[in-house]
Amino acid sequence: MALEKYQRKRDFSKTSEPAGGEGQESKDQPRFVIQKHRAKRLHYDLRLEMEGVLRSWAIPKGPSLNPDDKRLAIQVEDHPLEYADFEGIIPEGEYGAGKVIVWDQGTYECIGEETDPVKAWKTGKLDMRLHGQKLKGMWLLIKLKGRQDNQWLFFKKKDEYSDLQTEITEEAPESVLSGLEVDEIEAEASPAWHSRVHRLLEELQIPSREIKGQVRPMLATLVTKVPEGSHWIYELKYDGIRALAVKKKTSFSFTLAA
Ligand code: MN
Repeated sequence: MALEKYQRKRDFSKTSEPAGGEGQESKDQPRFVIQKHRAKRLHYDLRLEMEGVLRSWAIPKGPSLNPDDKRLAIQVEDHPLEYADFEGIIPEGEYGAGKVIVWDQGTYECIGEETDPVKAWKTGKLDMRLHGQKLKGMWLLIKLKGRQDNQWLFFKKKDEYSDLQTEITEEAPESVLSGLEVDEIEAEASPAWHSRVHRLLEELQIPSREIKGQVRPMLATLVTKVPEGSHWIYELKYDGIRALAVKKKTSFSFTLAA
């Protein structure tokens, strides 16, 4: 049971973190994610998809584009695949209490002698190419010998993406999902998109209005024949969720329909 340790540490009636077991394995290249986690101490969590879970390392200082900055990475318990999209607040008193954003995400491939991620991990050397939004190119994750079992180093290999000047964690502190910085994650554990939509709506300067009764989003109706007549027009039907937002004073309320 790969996730037993993860699940034992958490009370899912209290934390909004995923319990696990429903995530889909990636079909093509495996995923990687780096979460920025303001717990008791700020750190970054590197997670690599393998064996149906996210194998995880806590990196106190976060990644650096400078090949000379070899960052300590402490391997921690495997996390469920669904954790890759988790942003929110882990409540006070719970394991890892604090705020979490998805700082970077993408896919990775092992490019060293061992191209199978599980085998590479077992040898203690992951020679990788990252295809992230912030981290790209060649990276190494190497297990330290003769130290505690869980201590690794994570660092950039010299290539066209290495950079001695840019402090990537400072230049790009925000979430790649919501655009929020870790301290902007709101107290009421609203999903990340909520805050982002809220911000975009604010920018539109929509007037505040009182709406009487319930308004539902208009949904597409499936028919077998194209309707005739000049009063019909056609447009592409987008799949997904329709949302109506109503602004009342300064707050928005949403009605969603699938
Ligand atoms: Mn963490």
